[in-house]
Amino acid sequence: MSEISDLSKLCIHTITTKPWSLQQACEKYSAKGIKGISVWRETLETQSLADSKKMLDDNGMVPVSLIRGGFFTGSEQDRQEATDINKAAIDEAAAIGTPLIVLVCGATPGQSVKENITQIEAGIEAVLPYAEAANIKLGIEPLHPMYGDTRSAIVTMKMANDMAERINSDFLGVTVDVYHLWWELELEQEIRRCGKNDHLFSFHICDWKLDMTDMLQDRGLMGEGIINIKEIRQWVENTGFSGYNEVEIFSKIYWAMDQDDYLEMIIEAYLNKS
Ligand code: ZN
Repeated sequence: MSEISDLSKLCIHTITTKPWSLQQACEKYSAKGIKGISVWRETLETQSLADSKKMLDDNGMVPVSLIRGGFFTGSEQDRQEATDINKAAIDEAAAIGTPLIVLVCGATPGQSVKENITQIEAGIEAVLPYAEAANIKLGIEPLHPMYGDTRSAIVTMKMANDMAERINSDFLGVTVDVYHLWWELELEQEIRRCGKNDHLFSFHICDWKLDMTDMLQDRGLMGEGIINIKEIRQWVENTGFSGYNEVEIFSKIYWAMDQDDYLEMIIEAYLNKS
C-alpha cells in the first residue's frame, strides 16, 4: 500500500476551516506548503471573482474544485432556477480557474427516487453543454443514504456510475468521498468501473466517528473514526487516479477551535492516517 510522505497531494476544502475567509485560507494553507484548495462558493461572495483569483494566484494555490452545484430536483420553477444557479457556478469556476464543480444532485421529499433521478439526469443534461463550452467538468458526488431525503437521490457509487455512463460525456464524472461510500460492499469494484471509464474525477477524505452527534456537522479527522481510508485511497489510486486527496470536514467542534492549531492536526492526520 502506498504511503503518504509529503503534502504535495493534499488539498483542503475551505469549508474545513470555515471561520477563515478565502484570503486567510490561501495564506494559511500556503504557509504550510499546502497548494491544493477546493473552494466553497460562499467564500467568493465577499469579494469580486477577479480578486478571488488574485488571492489564489498570489499564494500559488491550485484550485481543485468548486463546491457546489446540483440540486436539480423539485418543481418546474425549482428546476429552472437550478439550471441558472449551476450556470452561475460554472461561470465562477471558469473565472477563478477551477476545472471541476462537485454536484450534490438533489432530492425532493414527496417525489419517488425514480422521479428524482429522472430530474437529476435532465438537470445535468441541461447544463452540460454550458460546462463543456467553459471547459469545466462536473463530478456527481454520491452521498450517504442518510441524505437521500433532501440532498441527493444518488446514494451509491453504482448509481453515480450508472448516471455518468448513461449521459456519457468526457465532462461528467464522479467524486468519491469516503464518508459517503465506506460502507458499500461493492465499493472496490465500482471504483474500478469508474476508473475504467475515465470518470473518477476527485477524491474526498475525512472520517466517520462512532460517537457522531450530528449527521451533517460532526465529521471526524482522518484516523478518528472507522473508515478504511488508506485502503479506499489505494483502490482509487489503482485506477490511475493521480489527483489530490481533498480533506473535507464539516465539524462544529473543529470550527470552534483555533484554526491554526486545527490546521496542524489536519496535516498530522493527513500524513499518518490517510
Ligand atoms: Zn465530499
